[in-house]
Amino acid sequence: MSRSDELFQQALKSIPGGVNSPVRAFKSVGGSPLFIDRADGAYIYDVDGKAYIDYVGSWGPMIMGHNHPAIRQAVIDAVNHGLSFGAPTAIETTVAEQIHALMPSMEKVRMVNSGTEATMSAIRLARGYTGRDKFIKFEGCYHGHADTLLVKAGSGALTLGEPDSPGVPADFARHTLTATYNDLDSVKTLFEQNPDQIAAIIVEPVAGNMNCILPNPGFLPALRALCDQYGSLLIIDEVMTGFRVSRGGAQEYYNVTPDLTTLGKIIGGGMPVGAFGGRSEIMDYLAPLGPVYQAGTLSGNPVAMAAGHASLNLISDEKVHLHLQQSSEQLAQGLRERAQRQNVNLIVNQVGAMMGYFFTDLPQVTCFSESCQSDKERFNKFFHLMLEQGIYLAPSPFEATFMSAAHGQREINATLDAADYAFSKL
Ligand code: PMP
Repeated sequence: MSRSDELFQQALKSIPGGVNSPVRAFKSVGGSPLFIDRADGAYIYDVDGKAYIDYVGSWGPMIMGHNHPAIRQAVIDAVNHGLSFGAPTAIETTVAEQIHALMPSMEKVRMVNSGTEATMSAIRLARGYTGRDKFIKFEGCYHGHADTLLVKAGSGALTLGEPDSPGVPADFARHTLTATYNDLDSVKTLFEQNPDQIAAIIVEPVAGNMNCILPNPGFLPALRALCDQYGSLLIIDEVMTGFRVSRGGAQEYYNVTPDLTTLGKIIGGGMPVGAFGGRSEIMDYLAPLGPVYQAGTLSGNPVAMAAGHASLNLISDEKVHLHLQQSSEQLAQGLRERAQRQNVNLIVNQVGAMMGYFFTDLPQVTCFSESCQSDKERFNKFFHLMLEQGIYLAPSPFEATFMSAAHGQREINATLDAADYAFSKL
């Protein structure tokens, strides 16, 4: 029995499922999850002392690689000044300005403590501002675990087969309308069926919670146009894509301007942070200026802000993004070639430092139902073959794969060699 096995058995006695977030449990792929001792750069080390090249990156935040010296030092310096004050600090404004500079649509920014809080608050604000109750989300998109958003959700909810969670009253869920990703007609129909009732569309600009699915050309601008036509707000959920798909996020890459944006992951550099922001006129609808209430004891926490500030400083460098883009393309193309060589049908979707792979005979994967057709048994086998060879991939066919700036040629070559062997064994 490995030390990870032992720790998992012990955790099961006092933590539901042994984990504090469901996908960590390896339930989909089977076996005990790795218990982690430490991580550095592109590598994560388990409690049994084995090193893995990490493509989970704490589910997105570690885009600069683990334990980056500048982020670590910023946290240490902040800790030396005290952990939390519940009063304003200068760095909160600095980070808001930094976010605005990278994403100009975020004229004003409010900090929260997770992506879930960011999307939940953005939806409330959109409802309060428009005076409408309903909103549209897309099947297979995940926006955190708030009640109204756990309807046909992706990520862990999907991995465990519970996209609609018990515990969400039907009365809440009926205000959440679901459309099909990349299918504009499904969105138009909802607008026509619910005149003057839809507060907003919330969308993952690149869907990363039903594996990784790219928007068709023109899909996001068309959502913008529909929102304008029907007086609704466009909320782009960049919790995953922000500063990962490109320096200015997916909204820059796909040239679409949302009314509100939600962020998380990278803006905390590994500390618990989320944010939402957008047009001043809408953001000023929030308390204390406006009537929509939203608050947080630890929001804008100085240690988290220091980590986020350092993380955003590093990711603002165009050279970092060029490297991320090139290494991600190289890995994606390498996986396609290795799979073809071993006669394995594989689709790899990739944009910026985000990608996903599907074991499927389909010519492309563009929506939830196509993602679900991917061969889960093959995925599980591949996952374990890679793990055995020291490659740590997301333990679910419905999660995206993340590149970090610390992944270099050596790591990419090692990953492709391991994939070649794994494909040959499928
Ligand atoms: N939105 C998106 C697009 C996400 O990917 C996630 C989490 N993976 C969330 C929201 C929720 O963020 P958190 O887990 O920090 O609550």
